[in-house]
Amino acid sequence: MTIGRHRPTQLIIDQAAIYQNIATEKARLKPGTELFQVVKANGYGHGITQVARTAEKAGATGFCVAILDEALTLRDAGFTQPILVLGITDPKYADLMASRHISATVGSLEWLQTATQVIKVPHQLTVHLGLDTGMGRIGFQHPAELETAVKYLIASEQLEFEGIFTHFATADAADTAYFEQQVSRWQAFMAVLPEKPKYVHVSNSATSLWHEVCNGNMIRYGVAAYGLNPSGTELTAPFDLHPAMSLTSELVFVKQLPAGRSVSYGATYTAKADECIATLPIGYADGYERRLQGFHVIVDGHFCEIVGRVCMDQLMIRLPHEYPVGTPVTLVGEDHGLTISLQDVADYCQTIHYEIACGFTSRVPRVYR
Ligand SMILES: *Cc1c(COP(=O)(O)O)cnc(C)c1O
Repeated sequence: MTIGRHRPTQLIIDQAAIYQNIATEKARLKPGTELFQVVKANGYGHGITQVARTAEKAGATGFCVAILDEALTLRDAGFTQPILVLGITDPKYADLMASRHISATVGSLEWLQTATQVIKVPHQLTVHLGLDTGMGRIGFQHPAELETAVKYLIASEQLEFEGIFTHFATADAADTAYFEQQVSRWQAFMAVLPEKPKYVHVSNSATSLWHEVCNGNMIRYGVAAYGLNPSGTELTAPFDLHPAMSLTSELVFVKQLPAGRSVSYGATYTAKADECIATLPIGYADGYERRLQGFHVIVDGHFCEIVGRVCMDQLMIRLPHEYPVGTPVTLVGEDHGLTISLQDVADYCQTIHYEIACGFTSRVPRVYR
């Protein structure tokens, strides 16, 4: 998508906040525990290479991504740290992965067998075995399956057993019953392991923040680095998280709307009195969801309601009184002591902040502070 460089709508990314959110967690970890920063989905919308650079400075020693292309983006940008692709990659790319020193997540013996046929000497693919202890997404289901795969993996010249991991489904919840079930399945898997690989890891942000005893020797630190509480509002983080993302724009058109006149598609909003209505150059094509009709933005220390339907590229707000074109607007972030968090936006959209953060499209330029 074309980047809107000549439009006043911007995502402001606070790199110092990301640095602090990582450095503080790193300092809490047991000595010898590594932190891999999860930068999938363009660093949760914050910018993959910029976040990776900040994370590296803050103490991250590796990266996790969701898909091979994200790993290649990091390699092409010059990052030499270990990179783990968390999703399943087609084994036909095993040689490409090996040649770029990118680690694969594997959840079946067949994957290893296919990869072995594809990888060319002298390449070696580093493999992390994924264990399904209750997430029900990817990974080995039974300890017996794991045992067979590990034997094959250790014996293979083209493959190196680099890691083993699982992923928790409810680490961000106050009720720990399901979490504990997963821990005991994890232990059953670990009991059949003839040798431990370099990386043993189970923790996303939530697990590391609230169940740090399980951490293993590496954590996959994701959303908390961006200053977002993985539980939403259910649990309190052990330290202050600093949100890194703000969204700002400016009034591009301001008018007096006479009582009885309507605003936007469907004419769903009608002015009750003479009102001052302003237009902002942002819409659902930017990832600012259509469902946000009725929500608010901040102008000069006032919450202003979004009136009428959010359009693809524009939306309208009601001002308390007239302001000039060019007046700054905060859609996410702090302004004049008022705050709109990604959590507030997510609550209004009945979703989670993860979805809002990574939903902002590439049309909105990311500006780094
Ligand atoms: C996305 C992801 C993470 C990071 O999760 P956060 O909740 O953002 O910390 C860790 N591990 C796996 C397997 C993931 O898919």
